[in-house]
Amino acid sequence: MKSQGVAQKPTELSLDPEDWESFRDLGRRMVDDMIAFVRGVSERPSFTPVPEQVKSFFRAELPRKAQGAEAVYEEFLRNVLPYAKGNIHPRFWGWVEGSGTPIGMLASLLSGAMNSNVAFGDQSAVYMELQVLDWFKEMLGFPQAASGLLLSGGSMANLVGLAAARDSRGDPSIPGKGVDPARRALRMYASAETHNSVDRAVKLLGLGREGLVRIPTGEDYRIDLSALRAAIARDREAGRTPFCLVANAGTVNTGAIDPISDMAELAAAEGLWLHVDAAIGFMAALLPEFEAALAPASRADSIAFDLHKWMYAQYETGCLLVREPAALEASFKHGADYLVSHERGVSAGPVAFADRGPELSRGFRALKVWMQLKEAGLERHAALVAQNVDQARYLASLVGDAENLELMAPPSLNIVCFRYNPGTLDAEALNSVNREILLRLQERGIATPSYTMLRGAYVIRVAITNHRSVNTDFELLASEVERLGRELA
Ligand SMILES: *Cc1c(COP(=O)(O)O)cnc(C)c1O
Repeated sequence: MKSQGVAQKPTELSLDPEDWESFRDLGRRMVDDMIAFVRGVSERPSFTPVPEQVKSFFRAELPRKAQGAEAVYEEFLRNVLPYAKGNIHPRFWGWVEGSGTPIGMLASLLSGAMNSNVAFGDQSAVYMELQVLDWFKEMLGFPQAASGLLLSGGSMANLVGLAAARDSRGDPSIPGKGVDPARRALRMYASAETHNSVDRAVKLLGLGREGLVRIPTGEDYRIDLSALRAAIARDREAGRTPFCLVANAGTVNTGAIDPISDMAELAAAEGLWLHVDAAIGFMAALLPEFEAALAPASRADSIAFDLHKWMYAQYETGCLLVREPAALEASFKHGADYLVSHERGVSAGPVAFADRGPELSRGFRALKVWMQLKEAGLERHAALVAQNVDQARYLASLVGDAENLELMAPPSLNIVCFRYNPGTLDAEALNSVNREILLRLQERGIATPSYTMLRGAYVIRVAITNHRSVNTDFELLASEVERLGRELA
């Protein structure tokens, strides 16, 4: 229907800026500010607790009216940026958190501009993700025919890898019929030191808490192989179905590396799927001194690892590789008329990543990894990982030399666990003093280690996945722990 003599067109809306020139000025300011922010990180405290007025700022009402980009950016500068967790700081060694890179920051801007959905399609992001996967296969000695995908992190990589294990080695009728414990009680085995993402995966996979059998470890926190063999034999005798071993390439508490080669042999002899959780340790495979321990991971059926930890990449990026090329599709592919790939056009392309995992819409995770690897080269990354290992040893030596510090586990890879111990306190007092030392270290912005319990002892835990740390940072940590210990005594 044609309208006659319309005086004024109704305004057609979009979310693009009305004034691109001033938007560009703002964008340039943001880039300048963020580069200065990252560049100056070592001048600032490692942590600033979120003040009350900022917490109440985040309770403001739903913004119904436009306030404009400049005003929102001012709010970001005032209330958001100063109160980060601090994992880009050179003295952040808490949990296992990567520091990110400047090139990764810019890559996030570029992928934000493209706003790619990497579910499938004849798009550069799909080809790039395949290339990044091929690089990791080469690095880890996996066959080039292996499958895989980038995921949000190690938790998802463990879940997806273990789903493939369940369906292809545990019980192939599960994708059709669902899990029925009466039919087959499936059992997976992993050391007591295994990350809790594996427990959560087992529950999500419908195998129940009992589906994961936790095997004790030795003094060195590595899985006890004879206990593992005995547990498998016991379950077979009781009519249960062992289907999978999980080996740790770097445990979360102490960085212990399970005897992967022995576990690979056992898995082969027993017909079990071997999944390696290399969330922490996979980059150490590049160092000659860890080759013997980590190269056997290339025999795994699946391997999960995190790029946002010890590869220093921006969040979120984990990776899963699966040896059997069709296993992931067998678990996750589900045809839909609206997603069929055509031989030409946008839906064409070499692979549908959406068929390899639970996510359909997927961000462009490969770009930051791809740019970072190309910018600095793999050799530089290997040298940084070696530097972190040296720093862990250096910190362990500082602890060893200090009057009142005590090493609490053999340092392995990049993880050091220690505590303040003046020799005059009982176990309970030691735990509470060390807890308080840790909180003061964090709250005063001195450094951010984290904590764990080792055989009943509260320990200060340092996991060095940080390319900005230097030796003097560890000297400061050791001397501050002693000083805070004296302050508390
Ligand atoms: C961190 C970690 C995970 C989980 O990875 P996310 O990226 O945090 O999801 C799994 N296993 C180990 C050994 C880890 O250290």
